[in-house]
Amino acid sequence: MSDPVLIIGAGVAGLTAAVELADSGVRVVLVEQKTTVGGNALDLYKAFPTDDCFYCFESNRDRPGIRKCFYRSALLDQPNIELRINTTVSEISGEPGRFEVKLAIGPQYVDPIKCIMCGICMKHSNAFVLISPQCQPQAVVYDPTRADDGVQRAAEECPTRAINLDAKPAEETITVSDIIVATGYHEMKPVNMDEYGYGKYPDVVTQLELAKMLDPNGETGGALLRPSDGAPVSHVLMVQCVGSRDENHYPYCSKICCVFALKHANIIAMERENIDVSVVYMDIRTYDRHERYYRDARVAGVNFIRGRVQRLAPSSDGGLDVIVYDSLLDRYLRLHTDLFVLSSALEPPEGGKGIIKALGLKSASGFVAPHDLAPEETVVAGDHVYACGTALGPAEVPESVTQARAVVSKILQSRK
Ligand SMILES: Cc1cc2nc3c(=O)[nH]c(=O)nc-3n(C[C@H](O)[C@H](O)[C@H](O)COP(=O)(O)OP(=O)(O)OC[C@H]3O[C@@H](n4cnc5c(N)ncnc54)[C@H](O)[C@@H]3O)c2cc1C
Ligand code: SF4
Ligand code: SF4
Repeated sequence: MSDPVLIIGAGVAGLTAAVELADSGVRVVLVEQKTTVGGNALDLYKAFPTDDCFYCFESNRDRPGIRKCFYRSALLDQPNIELRINTTVSEISGEPGRFEVKLAIGPQYVDPIKCIMCGICMKHSNAFVLISPQCQPQAVVYDPTRADDGVQRAAEECPTRAINLDAKPAEETITVSDIIVATGYHEMKPVNMDEYGYGKYPDVVTQLELAKMLDPNGETGGALLRPSDGAPVSHVLMVQCVGSRDENHYPYCSKICCVFALKHANIIAMERENIDVSVVYMDIRTYDRHERYYRDARVAGVNFIRGRVQRLAPSSDGGLDVIVYDSLLDRYLRLHTDLFVLSSALEPPEGGKGIIKALGLKSASGFVAPHDLAPEETVVAGDHVYACGTALGPAEVPESVTQARAVVSKILQSRK
């Protein structure tokens, strides 16, 4: 029997590759550093290009009973997939076709197979949390840094004895034939950019943070309230290219942030009452079929200002005063806003860099370098090593899925 394929990262790309390989009879070890699968897509609320809710995004699987939630579909009912959550890769040795991979497995405080999500532990202690209603595995998570007096009682009263407060980290070495790098991206937190006040003023948030605020399952039930004082938001100001196209940070265009900013601007303008939206931009890059988001935004009354944000300060009546240079009018504008939203660069994730180094892969701005001359070879990162999704740089979900399927096809061909 062939050795399994290792997939590092259980976002959309890693999950797609795992399910498709498993369905083709290939054993897979799917390693995810967090306690739930889904990656960044867990927090996106609605998705372009279909505007589906991400919770119910049309599955690419046609399996009875699990048509929806593509990142969950087939994961648990597929015996060829061995899912390792709270796990990272600490060492890679061996040779292409037969890699020896050391896994660092974090303490498994809650056994996800035993947990029935009854919620009893959460009533006793804040250290037990439900990461997301759509987390997978469906289990609560224990955060030891929040341990309080109630944790012991929670463990004792758990009806299925799923909790082990003494769990310890472990190590395991596995042998795999191929490695798929699906480590994804991280949304840059622009704490060192004074002009945006991120981390200093609570009413300054990133687009991913805004997506969580818009989510009806979020803390405010989808109502937009000022994080600083809970007052209703009546104006949202977005600024594009934060950290992208900037030699001091990331020189590349993050490609999808114009589209997701417009997606959010349209949701606010069309689905929330009495909230105005303005977008400060250098260029609006709605590639391919996404131009309709720009057209819709203009029809919905979103205000576009070509220029740059110069500085901001808290306003005496709450919210923020923002000074913007308008390059079309050649003058400075003073805008008052309740929520300042940064379209921040998509940067390589911390964990991804170590993997690239360990596998000796070529890197471009910290992501796995795509093949310049042969697009059909983009996903082939090395000998028996592949990459897909945003591990290769900023990409939307459909592109990530397409790349994952390209990897699957390459691996199946190599096994013939
Ligand atoms: C604000 C915002 C809105 C967006 N909206 C849309 C939209 O509407 N439509 C759309 O198509 N796209 C959208 N996107 C893009 C979308 O998020 C990505 O295309 C998609 O999530 C990429 O999936 P992925 O699997 O490549 O990466 P990720 O989702 O980043 O998943 C990578 C996974 O790998 C794990 N990982 C990383 N390093 C390691 C390691 N060393 N060991 C183990 N695990 C590791 C991570 O924990 C993560 O779970 C949006 C992006 C942003 C920022
Ligand atoms: S008490 Fe046990 S079964 Fe219930 S949610 Fe907590 S860990 Fe899960
Ligand atoms: S996609 Fe738009 S916001 Fe993002 S870096 Fe490119 S031009 Fe700037």
